[in-house]
Amino acid sequence: RPHFDYYTGRAVVNLAAIRHNVALMREKVRSHSPHTQIMAVVKGGAYGHGLIESARASAQGGATWFGTAQASEALELRRAGFDQRILTWLHTPGIDFAELIRHDIDISVAGPWAVSAVRDAAREVGKPARVHLKVDTGLGRNGVTLADLDQMLVPLIAAQDEGTLEFVGIWSHFAFADEPENPTVLAQAETFKQAIAQAEAAGAHLEVRHLANSAATLLNPSVYYDLVRPGLSVYGLSPAPQIGDAAHFGLIPAMTLEADIATVKKLPAGHGVSYSHQYHTEEDTRIGVVPLGYADGIFRHASGTADRGGLGAPIQIGDQRVSIAGRVCMDQFVVDLGPDTRTVPGDTAILFGDPATGVPGAEDWAVAAGTISYEIVTRVGERVPRVYI
Ligand code: PLP
Repeated sequence: RPHFDYYTGRAVVNLAAIRHNVALMREKVRSHSPHTQIMAVVKGGAYGHGLIESARASAQGGATWFGTAQASEALELRRAGFDQRILTWLHTPGIDFAELIRHDIDISVAGPWAVSAVRDAAREVGKPARVHLKVDTGLGRNGVTLADLDQMLVPLIAAQDEGTLEFVGIWSHFAFADEPENPTVLAQAETFKQAIAQAEAAGAHLEVRHLANSAATLLNPSVYYDLVRPGLSVYGLSPAPQIGDAAHFGLIPAMTLEADIATVKKLPAGHGVSYSHQYHTEEDTRIGVVPLGYADGIFRHASGTADRGGLGAPIQIGDQRVSIAGRVCMDQFVVDLGPDTRTVPGDTAILFGDPATGVPGAEDWAVAAGTISYEIVTRVGERVPRVYI
């Protein structure tokens, strides 16, 4: 195990798991739609797993595209030497589209300002920009609604015909990422078909149409089109926990968040633990201090609060399953190890990892913190070193 003299915890990222997850999805998609490619969504520092290393593992698993929200992450990938197609989709006026065009990065446009800005940038660079039109088929977020589509298509097709833009893609995103049975999924798929028909009727020569996120990639072959865009499941987390856990889908969670116990000490029965004493020891016991806190992305909402008996999210220490006792602090939290514990300082506390190995999962933490597993892994603090295995 790597030792970090000045760090108290680490996120161990299993790159073989990422390779496995992408390869699994590639095989599944290929069995229904041989031409469909995989875009690994690596935004948010690859959902907290580390952008560059995770992208490399995804490519080894068979991803031929990468997707990022922020253009900065797209450029980081290109500068690191990735030659795959990269799509980046969340831009604000003033962005340097020319730099993206120079780096051969596909650009999503979601409104008229972006079409004219990309067109100007392409003229400046002297090279056509590859553009994907984002359609809002029902999410109610970024993208053009059907009502505004024709108006948006006019400048896009004009720029295509004059050779400044290559209008290569049309795409959309689901509102109910984790509810594949929700009726809006079908409604959005229908709207997407209409948008494609409208774009083609207006003269678009589309190369890629793409709609599927992780849940659709695992559950809905009818929306595979030319590309699928899984994010969460690349990292081995279930996109639909109410249907099944990671193992149910054949996924392997890639991240294990762990830290070495700093202190083990006795406390008498009835002693308050951590800020505002939300937990009280029930008997003479030993407590352990785990040196990760909200500055490391540990959710304070995962604390033990009085209304839940002072106990919060689960932790595995050897063969002992314990819970956060009392409040999560900035850099640490406490667990009640019981009077007979064999745990000593330096033992490893696993906050979450692959539940198939007997440790809590990010999903368990999501439940404890009142959030989703996406946020649990993505929020792991920048100061926590990523250790790649
Ligand atoms: N496509 C877009 C536009 C996204 O914003 C995201 C992530 O939220 C994804 C795909 C991947 O979604 P998921 O992580 O649910 O697979």
